[in-house]
Amino acid sequence: MEIMLDENDLKILDILSREPRASISKISKETGLSRPTVHSRIEKILKSGVLKGLHFELDEAELGGKVFLVSLSSEKPQETVEELVKLPEVDEIFITSGLPNIHVILYVFDLESLSRFLEYVSKTDSQAKISLVFTRCKLDRTTEKLVAAKKAILHCETCGVSISGTPYIYVYKNRKHYFCCPVCRNQFVDKVVKSVQAPKS
Ligand SMILES: [Zn+2]
Repeated sequence: MEIMLDENDLKILDILSREPRASISKISKETGLSRPTVHSRIEKILKSGVLKGLHFELDEAELGGKVFLVSLSSEKPQETVEELVKLPEVDEIFITSGLPNIHVILYVFDLESLSRFLEYVSKTDSQAKISLVFTRCKLDRTTEKLVAAKKAILHCETCGVSISGTPYIYVYKNRKHYFCCPVCRNQFVDKVVKSVQAPKS
């Protein structure tokens, strides 16, 4: 689904990402929008699915991963988006009118994949201006907790061995994948990236 977020929606998202529990009146004051407007816009944003999977809670200890909203100003948005969808970190992309005109929802578990994304963007579209909005998400950690309590066994998705200790995790299309080591994780990433880049037959 393609939805249109305008600059005011993005201002609201920006405030919420910095301050998840910001009140309607506070957002209204900061954005200059009326309270009913803020309210209806938040409803619209929620319905749009942009915030899907995000729980605005600030308990750092519970964090399983991070969601970034990356906004780009691109002169050739369609071409740039066609390249960006190839990346496994990319969950959703929205194109809007005005600048910035591309908004990417990114799921990352480590800074490596974030910098990989940013590098890819600047290679794809050297003119693109990037602004990064960092938000927090609480991902379900039930599996890791069960494993830590020895109530579940995970198998590496690449080599199949049962994972002892903390699994290496990679999030792809909103699902977590588990690996025994960074090598296996990277193999998975390469495979995923290659398969999405291969032309459809
Ligand atoms: Zn493995």
